[in-house]
Amino acid sequence: MQKKETSAPGFSPRFQHFATQAIHTGQEPEQWNSWDVVPPISLSTTFKQRAPGQPVDFVYGRSGNPTRNCLEKVVAMLDEAKHSLAFASGLAAIVTVTHLLKAGDHVICMDDVYGGTGRFFRRVASELGLKISFVDCCKTKLLEEAITPQTKRPLALGADICMYSATKYMNGHSDVVMGLVSVKSDELHSRLRFLQNTLGTVPSPFDCYLCIRGLKTLQIRMEKHFQNGMAVARFLESDPRVERVFYPGLPSHPQHELAKRQCTGCPGMVTFFIKGSLQHADTFLKHLKIFALAESLGGYESLAELPAIMTHASVPKNDRDSLGISDTLIRLSVGLEDEEDLLNDIYQALKAAHPGSGNLK
Ligand SMILES: *Cc1c(COP(=O)(O)O)cnc(C)c1O
Repeated sequence: MQKKETSAPGFSPRFQHFATQAIHTGQEPEQWNSWDVVPPISLSTTFKQRAPGQPVDFVYGRSGNPTRNCLEKVVAMLDEAKHSLAFASGLAAIVTVTHLLKAGDHVICMDDVYGGTGRFFRRVASELGLKISFVDCCKTKLLEEAITPQTKRPLALGADICMYSATKYMNGHSDVVMGLVSVKSDELHSRLRFLQNTLGTVPSPFDCYLCIRGLKTLQIRMEKHFQNGMAVARFLESDPRVERVFYPGLPSHPQHELAKRQCTGCPGMVTFFIKGSLQHADTFLKHLKIFALAESLGGYESLAELPAIMTHASVPKNDRDSLGISDTLIRLSVGLEDEEDLLNDIYQALKAAHPGSGNLK
């Protein structure tokens, strides 16, 4: 029976079977002698061999681990990829993928990339001889100009590698730092598998266990993040103490149509400029009670932060200015709490930041 899953109005249809696959793929109980329904945390760093050079399935914890194996299988399926590899962090994944390149190669990186990634390219990879260009990738003309002539046209070939910081929504519980990389090509997979083992950028079995657990509720969490994110974005957009809101689910977002074409919904990341100065942003953030003032994103709990001073402090001041990361730009990671409580929290903190404004809403 084929039943089309409903999705958010205007957005792409939901991925079929996603929740079922997240719960079952790579986790078949029959793969364990004891038929465990939940994949066990396999802590052994080494595995007994039948004879020299004749291992059963695994050899050593860095080169392969049963729990990590389950995670890599389920993520490959969710990505419709052929292979997936897990890493110690999102950055460990980026560093490992970067090792596919050699000195003299050219990296084009979006200009408002995550601060830690920018720092790696600026301060480490460029020292090793890679040429790095930061480009506003919304402007395709600039992107084309940044591509140095070569025999291949990589963009025409489609994306070869899909990389995640699983620290965010995929684990979703703010208790694991991890990266994931999915590929369709066997050749890329074996090169990355070699690098993963050679560089030692692997996650722990316990973290793999937690991430497998987190993935089981990814779909249901994302639906609620979208619902709450949308409510918060609409609420902020209608408040006179707010200058401007950025949320791809709002028609006012410059890439709203693109988001609807490419995505099944939006996550809980909402950004806005509060009216006033740093002092207003500071007061707002200090008065939040449910939203915790903390970096990171994508967990079940709501977080708020000031990118200019926190997550993006490592971006040079000039670049921050040209990107619009000002002292009044506030970033929210909207979690899974009750919508009404979140809106009330934002409302009272906005009032505290602008005490003269009275009950404007
Ligand atoms: C968080 C994040 C990273 C870094 O991932 P870690 O898991 O913290 O190492 C890289 N890129 C983006 C877009 C991120 O959000």
